[in-house]
Amino acid sequence: MVLGVESSCDETGVGIVSGGRLLAHVVASSMDEHARFGGVVPEIAARAHLQAFTPVVREALAQAGIGLRGVDAVAVTTGPGLSGALQVGLAGAKSLAYAAGVPLYGVHHLAGHVAADTLEHGPLPDPCVVLIVSGGHTSLLLVRDLVRDPILHLGDTVDDAAGECFDKVARIFGLPYPGGPAIDRAARDGDPRAVAFPRPLLGSKDDPYAFSFSGLKTAAARWAEQHRLRGEDLPLADGAASLQEAVADVLTRKALAACRQYGVRTLVVVGGVAANSRVRALAEERCAAAGVELRVPPLTLCTDNGAMIAAVGDLLVRSGAAPAKLDVSIDPSAPLEYAALHPAPAP
Ligand code: ATP
Ligand code: MG
Ligand code: FE
Repeated sequence: MVLGVESSCDETGVGIVSGGRLLAHVVASSMDEHARFGGVVPEIAARAHLQAFTPVVREALAQAGIGLRGVDAVAVTTGPGLSGALQVGLAGAKSLAYAAGVPLYGVHHLAGHVAADTLEHGPLPDPCVVLIVSGGHTSLLLVRDLVRDPILHLGDTVDDAAGECFDKVARIFGLPYPGGPAIDRAARDGDPRAVAFPRPLLGSKDDPYAFSFSGLKTAAARWAEQHRLRGEDLPLADGAASLQEAVADVLTRKALAACRQYGVRTLVVVGGVAANSRVRALAEERCAAAGVELRVPPLTLCTDNGAMIAAVGDLLVRSGAAPAKLDVSIDPSAPLEYAALHPAPAP
């Protein structure tokens, strides 16, 4: 039984996994407390983790029907993420590992996002392409064996993350935070071809898997401003649908280009933006056309959670990886190349 702790952003997550099976999955979010600031406030997030940690652990243990003595290892996100938020989770995880007398494993947050899918669909095929799209990340990865091989970072956003773009544009459109779900809802009756929003970096030759979303935000702001200057109501549904189309188009096109280039038959999409209805639909459509299997975990495993960290911990334990020392620290900008285990074992 591996207990996983996640606290890199605004979710306090604790999950329990055994032999690839999900036994407990509890998440407390401080999202509401950040809403009026239009984004996550690090100090508020850290304090919220401090308040939520013990109750969330207790609830996860109850869900799994075990006590602390039933835990064989503790896994925790050591980075990347907000420094203060990570520290609360790591301090809590160390205490649990020390009290239970079990090993502690530091886990890379993005490896957690990748592993989330194994809890729903079983072991990942080697290799697979993983698209992580959330409020903090837009990354395209080539994943081999998650615990043995370094993850190949194919591309990243050069500015805003896709979720950040949804959140910022929603704000411009006067929609509530978090913006992604609000845009998704607003887009339902809109025409995705109504506004010709740009497809940033689509033809980029030297960095074919780089993403950029800040230009899209600027284009959306200009479009909204033009309507306001003319004293017209914002055709919100059309704007939202067109924005969503532009984001989904770029994300799925690049993900499938990566599958083609590396001869990969499986695409995994994780992160909060994987919940977007148009991203899902277009990914399904384009994967089917290319003969690529699409794996998208359920939404509660897509967004930040402790179960995904427990899933990595479970893989690490079963692979015989060396645990971290109890003086291990956080690494807010942990490099992905060292894959699941963090910090990387000495060569
Ligand atoms: P991290 O990058 O560390 O995972 P995060 O907490 O911002 O941080 P998630 O919790 O995975 O990431 O996802 C939240 C993001 O997903 C927000 O930006 C939100 O707007 C976006 N999102 C959620 N649902 C939808 C949706 N239906 N359509 C588009 N975006 C969505
Ligand atoms: Mg979040
Ligand atoms: Fe995340």
